[in-house]
Amino acid sequence: MSAYCNIFSIYRYIAILLFFAMLVMANTAEVMAKETSYNNKKIIVLDPGHGGHDKGAQGTNGTYEKTLSLKLAHIIAKELEDKYRVFLTRTDDYRLDNPGRIDAANHLEADLFISIHSGGSFLHKANGIYIYYYNEISWPANILESTTLKTIKSKNIQPQWHNIQDRHKATSHVLAESVKNRINEHIEFAKCKVQGAPVLVLSGADMPAILIETGYISNPAEEKELKDAKVLSNFAKGISKGIEDFFSNL
Ligand SMILES: [Zn+2]
Repeated sequence: MSAYCNIFSIYRYIAILLFFAMLVMANTAEVMAKETSYNNKKIIVLDPGHGGHDKGAQGTNGTYEKTLSLKLAHIIAKELEDKYRVFLTRTDDYRLDNPGRIDAANHLEADLFISIHSGGSFLHKANGIYIYYYNEISWPANILESTTLKTIKSKNIQPQWHNIQDRHKATSHVLAESVKNRINEHIEFAKCKVQGAPVLVLSGADMPAILIETGYISNPAEEKELKDAKVLSNFAKGISKGIEDFFSNL
């Protein structure tokens, strides 16, 4: 074999090596870019209310609040997952205490915490859609829900992360208004309203946090609405757009 052939073979070998090296580098760059864009996504924690033996409210047609809140949280997560990193505090039918729900969000250093309910047990209301942000001062006299600070104080319970939410009160209020506006564009069966209240599950959240009551399943007309897949999908769209508005106005 001639020297020319040997040199040609060496060049060809180097060219092949370079080609594979470039391929590996391109793949690595692509993986890194994907990881970076994933890591740059904001984190949203959705908290389906109740679970396990804590069934929440029950509709006259047999709907449990714990089942509805989980179903809706999954639909909202699907709507959000292209733009955000979405986590659920529970993914199945089991009980979680309030510190457990908040610990998950705080340890993830989530950007938002959204608790989903549809029981209407928080205020003496029989219908309507409400979004609550944490506000101990605006504590209405008629709150009965067992998960309020009233219970905490009367039983002298020391909850974890107590009142960290105070520092996020203003931004949580803005988030509540953003989501309310978009829900009202997508949902027709009731007007969504915003209210400050000392909601215990929000009190320890170290990020903007709201609790959404998506209507009251104890009200037969609203239970019927909340069993409609289209209505749940519209809630997810409204909440997603409200979140988008909130982040773009920060
Ligand atoms: Zn509830």
